[in-house]
Amino acid sequence: ATPAATMVGTTIGAQNGVLFKGGDVLERAKDVDTVVFDKTGTLTRGEMELTDVVAFDADGDAVTDGGDPAADGGRVAARDSLTEDDVLRLAASAESGSEHPLARAVVDGAEARGLDVRDPEDFENVPGHGIEATVGDRRVLVGNRKLLRDSDIDPTPAEETMARLEREGKTAMLVAVDGALAGVVADADTVKESARDAVAALRARGVDVMMITGDNERTARAVAEQVGIDPENVRAEVLPEDKSDAVEAIQDGGRKAMMVGDGVNDAPALAVAYVGTAIGSGTDVAIEAADVTLMRDDPLDVVKAIRISEATLAKIK
Ligand code: ADP
Ligand code: MG
Repeated sequence: ATPAATMVGTTIGAQNGVLFKGGDVLERAKDVDTVVFDKTGTLTRGEMELTDVVAFDADGDAVTDGGDPAADGGRVAARDSLTEDDVLRLAASAESGSEHPLARAVVDGAEARGLDVRDPEDFENVPGHGIEATVGDRRVLVGNRKLLRDSDIDPTPAEETMARLEREGKTAMLVAVDGALAGVVADADTVKESARDAVAALRARGVDVMMITGDNERTARAVAEQVGIDPENVRAEVLPEDKSDAVEAIQDGGRKAMMVGDGVNDAPALAVAYVGTAIGSGTDVAIEAADVTLMRDDPLDVVKAIRISEATLAKIK
């Protein structure tokens, strides 16, 4: 494109909250044939809320009543099993060491229920899997199945509960206390209003739409279904450090992919994509790695970016 055309396209973009980092990306965007969306914070609002707390007794059965055997359908919980409030208080205290949106929601949820959340004595983040912490004299793990398995704790008794929550599109987290499975807490996020329209508009233009997430397969598919992304186009349980490899694998077949993401996690993937796009409230790291920044938090602006590129280049031919 001529410098004049580039200037027009860049200006129109800016007026629409679509910032192109230079003339070459303005030209490239029209050739994108695949858009890969990050899930959390990109297709969803990234504002998690605690929705469920389940405590298990020593047999792995749910304690449905907060510990009172009389209200537990007659089933007497094992002496040392924890109540729902215990599970939530320990999970939240452990998570208060984490900045992860999943963790923030657990802490806020516990505080909203009036539980005494305190700082952990000791805290370790296990990226893509969860956290490990010491709360008082208790060792607490909160995270996914792999986190527990890696500590030789069998997550199987929680499978039915996990699957139910995940089918609802929630992120369910296992809670282990002192080496034993103690319960499950779940957070839910809501899909952005225009996410479904954005996916439909891209597909109508013949652009393939995919989703990539560190979240588990079942939750990922539930969210994909809500926004109209095909199940086979979902890449789930992708570790933060593997996101860029996943984008490269998608591009290996010759695809020109636009990766759209918001988080620190997403920066390497944005950098390797044909076009990297940071969205909305994106972190500085994501914005820095991106070729395009969408000022608004609106997935429809992805379509706008491609259209501006197309229109600018068409005009100057
Ligand atoms: P995303 O790509 O959705 O931002 P992450 O890669 O950060 O997800 O995490 C992947 C998975 O690891 C989460 O879905 C969750 O099961 C688990 N996880 C990560 N961080 C935490 C945490 N602080 N507490 C509990 N679970 C966590
Ligand atoms: Mg994310």
